[in-house]
Amino acid sequence: MTEYTPKERLYRALRKQQIDRMPAVCFTQTATVEQMEACGAYWPEAHADAEKMATLAEAGHTEAGFEAVRVPFDITAEAEHFGCGIKAGDLKQQPSVIKHVVKNMEDLEKLKGYSLKEGRIAIILEAVKILSEKYGEELPIIGSMIGPFSLAQHINGDAWFGNLFTGEEIVPALLDFCTDFNVEYAKAMVENGADTIAIIDPTASYELIGGEFYEKYALPYHKKIADAMKELDVATVLHICGNTTNGLSIMDKAGVNAISVDQRVDIKTATGNVENAIIVGNIDPVAVLWNGTPEEVAEASKKVLDAGVGLLTVGCGIVSMTPTANLRKMVECAINHKY
Ligand SMILES: [Zn+2]
Repeated sequence: MTEYTPKERLYRALRKQQIDRMPAVCFTQTATVEQMEACGAYWPEAHADAEKMATLAEAGHTEAGFEAVRVPFDITAEAEHFGCGIKAGDLKQQPSVIKHVVKNMEDLEKLKGYSLKEGRIAIILEAVKILSEKYGEELPIIGSMIGPFSLAQHINGDAWFGNLFTGEEIVPALLDFCTDFNVEYAKAMVENGADTIAIIDPTASYELIGGEFYEKYALPYHKKIADAMKELDVATVLHICGNTTNGLSIMDKAGVNAISVDQRVDIKTATGNVENAIIVGNIDPVAVLWNGTPEEVAEASKKVLDAGVGLLTVGCGIVSMTPTANLRKMVECAINHKY
């Protein structure tokens, strides 16, 4: 059978076309301390320096063996772009959002007219370009961004869920604003060489907000991003945390190519709940990948593969302290899986 490049293989896998074997990729954050030590690009500097970011992303390929490169490593650059307060990360911890900027429609007005040519958004776009120039012929270039629901929450802060339940006008207004930003940002990533877009929307979770709210406040916005990417022949992968098993049939309507599921999701049930997207996941990043042995990684991988997962990968972001040997084992299990 034809040997595909990793880029062609993932392209085909995400479109349910025939492939020779499973691609070994990761759609969530890939960096670890072992990789940082191997390549010399460390957190927190690698969050804010395009060269270092690209170098550390590359280590996910050269050290862990992932057949793709992916940036960035956190989900705060977008909120930071709109002026939210950020708690800096360190060698092991990612940065987090601690101060929010929009209480009402007036505050939201002030955010309009932003530029993608500034701040960490510009740095991430530059890192995509560096990686694409080096690996674009051979490897998939995965551009990742926070999804509109979680970004709106970052911008709005603690009031977000209350506003959602009381149906405040700021909710759809913020979601429209964030989605327009997401589409523009994703297009810029594609212009710089990204061929796959990972939408990380942790709190748009069925487990947290239920089906009715997901359908109203997340689905149309995810669909807008997926549609815009489809026009460019760019695949989308949607990652949402929590046990989304019973929400998958609704999430599937967004038209994304793949849904990345948490370790709490039962893969067999999950694959039965979708018609369009493939299900990817869902090795436990903490209990198995971080704290387990390579043998336990192999066992967990076999279970997920036997249950019919579309692509074997991690169930959420990789923990920075994860041993390379465990990542390599998961990669090996994916590569050895024949269809
Ligand atoms: Zn997650």
